[in-house]
Amino acid sequence: MPTNVLILGGTADANGLASRLSGDPRYAVTLSLAGRTLAPRVLPVATRVGGFGGAHGLSAYLNDNAIDVLIDATHPFAERISANAALAARQTGLPLLTFGREPWRPVTGDAWTEVADLAAAAAALPEHPARVFLTVGRQSLAPFAAKPQHHYVIRVIDAPDIPTALTDTLIVVGRGPFTEGAEIELIHKHRIDLLVTKNSGGEAASAKLAAARALKLPVILVRQPAPAGGHVLHTPDAVLGALARFHGDLAKRSV
Ligand code: NAP
Repeated sequence: MPTNVLILGGTADANGLASRLSGDPRYAVTLSLAGRTLAPRVLPVATRVGGFGGAHGLSAYLNDNAIDVLIDATHPFAERISANAALAARQTGLPLLTFGREPWRPVTGDAWTEVADLAAAAAALPEHPARVFLTVGRQSLAPFAAKPQHHYVIRVIDAPDIPTALTDTLIVVGRGPFTEGAEIELIHKHRIDLLVTKNSGGEAASAKLAAARALKLPVILVRQPAPAGGHVLHTPDAVLGALARFHGDLAKRSV
């Protein structure tokens, strides 16, 4: 019997795990997306879209679909779904593997101001008008209404609703990964004074920080929240290894 795996996704990491597991006869994999991205990448695994209705809804889904293992590979800043996953795993007694990304750490040449949240990031912006490169995601723009004096270059995957207080904005639609060279070009092209981003960790989104370092550009970085729970693993290989062990245990129990 294949092990039924539910991957909570919405990230390149989740897509990578799903792609590596697809076609493996040991597993029946379902990828779950919140439905935020209009045209998500199409992957060779079963995909479901939309919220579960909180932790209890997720527990019910896990029971109804005889899921054996839950993998939380959501974005490190997607705190609600991760909290729900931790609670649902406790409620159902299912193993939870959490794909955790190591936060980026400053190295020589970085000019980072690290802050606790998006409101603090907005507060850390200067009072005089500046040209700000904002890569925090389209759901996270509201706090910047507190600083409408800036010109914001906002990079998103899908066009966002701009807070009405922000009147000087330019939307750049793009989906990473980006190269350091492309990020430098973008920073030059838009005469950016500083970058505001989330400390998401991982490689797919780190080129902008390398570009900022190369250009001695100040960065305001929102600290990554701690993982909500589960067995936290930091590489796809570690997640797949733990999954293979669960599969082996389940297979032994069923003979
Ligand atoms: P969130 O605040 O943690 O979650 C809000 C609600 O959206 C959850 O309570 C859940 O609804 C639903 N949801 C979230 N992820 C889901 C998933 N993978 N499958 C099914 N339902 C899900 O999440 P968010 O920050 O809005 O992020 C939404 C999605 O975008 C996540 O999947 C995340 O991986 C991805 N993402 C987020 C960021 C970011 O910066 N936050 C960046 C890149 C990608 P119910 O309670 O009804 O189940």
